[in-house]
Amino acid sequence: MDKPKLHVVSCSGGKDSTAMLLRMLEEGMPIDMILFCDTGLEFPGLYEHLKQLEKYIGRKITRISTDKSFEYYFMEHEIKRKRSTAFAEKYGLDHNGYGWAGPKMRWCTERLKNQPREQFLRPLRDKYEVIEYVGIAADESYRLERKNNQRDNCVHPLVDWGMTEADCLQYCYDRGFRWDGLYEIFSRVSCWCCPLQSLEELRKLYRNFPDLWEKLKYWDSQTWRKFRADYSVQELEKRFDFEAEWQNSGKPLKGRAFYSALKERLANENGE
Ligand code: SF4
Repeated sequence: MDKPKLHVVSCSGGKDSTAMLLRMLEEGMPIDMILFCDTGLEFPGLYEHLKQLEKYIGRKITRISTDKSFEYYFMEHEIKRKRSTAFAEKYGLDHNGYGWAGPKMRWCTERLKNQPREQFLRPLRDKYEVIEYVGIAADESYRLERKNNQRDNCVHPLVDWGMTEADCLQYCYDRGFRWDGLYEIFSRVSCWCCPLQSLEELRKLYRNFPDLWEKLKYWDSQTWRKFRADYSVQELEKRFDFEAEWQNSGKPLKGRAFYSALKERLANENGE
């Protein structure tokens, strides 16, 4: 006998999944559960948005998370490393914690999002045919090729509706959602501490969220892996301060003169 269907909306709280959820509700599509995987690393404005969203739709959003925090996995988690790996050669063997995510090692996506979601859904799959609704915008359809988005019964209504990222943001703005101005500052909103975001987004984080920046600096001082291949958080801060000085003296933030002066400043401040 066929299992009954369970319609589960994945809601990150960002503009795309919010627009998807709102339109699904407006079109009367079936929704049995709304899931938010909480990494603990969202901007305060996003957590507020989730509360506003719950009020607006009159339904509860189910929050799931790991029993251990990002900080635990980042700094303390014991990892058995093989003697022969390139990692061991570079950093030694006795570092606890995964450290910052890298382009080829997004441990936090796996540990803090994918695993808790799967753990939560696994028992439900025994009883139901779980249909997952994922908010991938029509102009991001390259993401559909990722393995994670090709799971059975994973559907993408925004792609079917042809709703782009800009459409999604407008859709939410039209219904009064503003995320405390986050989308007016950043072009993408995800974990505030993500080392994979662009230099431009990190500059905005530094200028607009000093408290979060201090936390980022603290975390960076507690781990073995540099925040980015080119800069530690401390060095980024020095760079951003230097940029402001350079700009105030009317000079452009590009070209050989800028980069030579920046290199010299960082070397001086690092005592080289
Ligand atoms: S957005 Fe960045 S920090 Fe957050 S889970 Fe993904 S890789 Fe990790």
